[in-house]
Amino acid sequence: MNSRIEQVTPEVVLPKAGLTGLLVNGEWRTPAKGKTLDVENPSRRQTLATIGASDEDDVKAAVAAASAAFPKWRRLASRARGALLTELGNRVTTNAEEIARVLAAESGNALRTQSRPEVLGAAEVLRYYGGVIAEQKGETLPLGPGLFSYSTREPLGVVGAIIPWNSPVVLAAVKIGMALGTGNTLVLKPAEDAPLAVIKIAELAADLFPAGVFNVVTGTGIDAGAPLAAHPNVAKVSFTGSLEVGKLVGHAVADRIGHATLELGGKSPCIVYPDAAAPAYVDATVAGIINAMRFARQGQSCTAGSRLYVHKDVWDTVMTKLVAKVKELKIGDSLDESNDIGAIINAERYSEVRAFIDEAINNGAQVLTGSLPPDVSEAKGFFPEPVIFAGVDNSWRVTREEVFGPVLVAIPWSDEEEVIKWANDTVYGLAAYVFTNDLTTALKATDQIDAGWLQVNRAGGQIPGMSYGGAKQSGIGAEYSIEGALEAYTSRKSVTINA
Ligand code: NAD
Repeated sequence: MNSRIEQVTPEVVLPKAGLTGLLVNGEWRTPAKGKTLDVENPSRRQTLATIGASDEDDVKAAVAAASAAFPKWRRLASRARGALLTELGNRVTTNAEEIARVLAAESGNALRTQSRPEVLGAAEVLRYYGGVIAEQKGETLPLGPGLFSYSTREPLGVVGAIIPWNSPVVLAAVKIGMALGTGNTLVLKPAEDAPLAVIKIAELAADLFPAGVFNVVTGTGIDAGAPLAAHPNVAKVSFTGSLEVGKLVGHAVADRIGHATLELGGKSPCIVYPDAAAPAYVDATVAGIINAMRFARQGQSCTAGSRLYVHKDVWDTVMTKLVAKVKELKIGDSLDESNDIGAIINAERYSEVRAFIDEAINNGAQVLTGSLPPDVSEAKGFFPEPVIFAGVDNSWRVTREEVFGPVLVAIPWSDEEEVIKWANDTVYGLAAYVFTNDLTTALKATDQIDAGWLQVNRAGGQIPGMSYGGAKQSGIGAEYSIEGALEAYTSRKSVTINA
């Protein structure tokens, strides 16, 4: 087995040399078949590290370790489990800069605008669950004299968590916090393109939790993700990723009547009402549109507000300012503090994003800003500039499918009923953004748009404590809040007593 993590990019401190990425029963292991995978820095097209690639045998070992650790872990008082999560959050804060630099290098997400805030946010998430998890309460029901029922919230068993590469650290923190806090044990599978920052967090966690409570299997989706989703002893799968893979995971879990939460893709609308373009508000609205589109994360966000509907009366005002602001964004190496935007994750995704841009241009879309990026064979790093298209409608592929790149389509509207219809004209229902200062208008729009998370005059990320999950084909289940975590990671046990 020649897997190794070696220092190629001098500005980052990779997980300790010799670690394979496979954490089973509190030990760093070599994958059974000795397979490896390379992790690339997409800004530089350079291999950052070569780590172990797990397969079914390693997944079985990790699930066995998690199963063995479950009986004792579930009996620990929830506040004691919470204290360990709080400690992990504090360790992440102490090591935040190191983790953020690794994250920026492997994910291509710019250090200043994305990776550093993500790591600090992940620490906050862990401390949130650390504090609130003691609220793992049930209910009591008086049923008559001498007769009552009470319920408890029981952990499910082994949780298999599968995460994508676009915000791996915060997603790992959310799954660790919810699964372990509620008394389950965990096997976490990071994405093959961005596992290193998660491994750094696992290093901080390895001596904290009892052996087997927290396990990590690195590897590809086919070799490590699929066996984890299909394992008969995995009581619940928490999956965050694409709609296509979400369907496979849903099928695998259904076969054994397992529990599943699916957090999938989106094609979220962003509606601008005329009043939001008044002189006092227009700058904030434009900043909100840019934030909603997650241009600073190369558009690689499930909640990206990638369909922009601007009222025709304020189209010129909004679009002129929007284009000017987007042109100011600086693109380049994710580790360079001066850059706002980094690189697309890998060659395949870069080529797919490029194909969307190429197709729309060939079909006559009007390019308000941006251009066709170089072919992958000529690209030094995967840096497409942000693109804004006009002259398209809801029927175009670029308007209907999740591009997962910095590509925004802008469409003027004049009839409120029609724009709400356009907003809902999608298989997805993850997020939506509404810009208006009129409360009645905002309430009407949020009532009528089918999405799991609506933001009015705001376009930031999730905040610990809020409920989060998708409608329609964007997913099943809403986690994140303590109520969501309890629903998703525990089952109710009722006890009826006749005194
Ligand atoms: P992906 O579905 O390709 O991969 C996600 C994870 O699933 C990875 O760890 C991958 O290795 C694993 N996987 C792949 N094939 C598998 C299989 N057959 N069985 C089990 N696991 C498998 O997604 P991605 O490209 O890494 O991420 C981008 C997608 O994730 C986008 O669609 C985005 O919208 C979505 N996403 C959703 C949310 C949300 O909260 N709803 C958050 C972030 C990203």
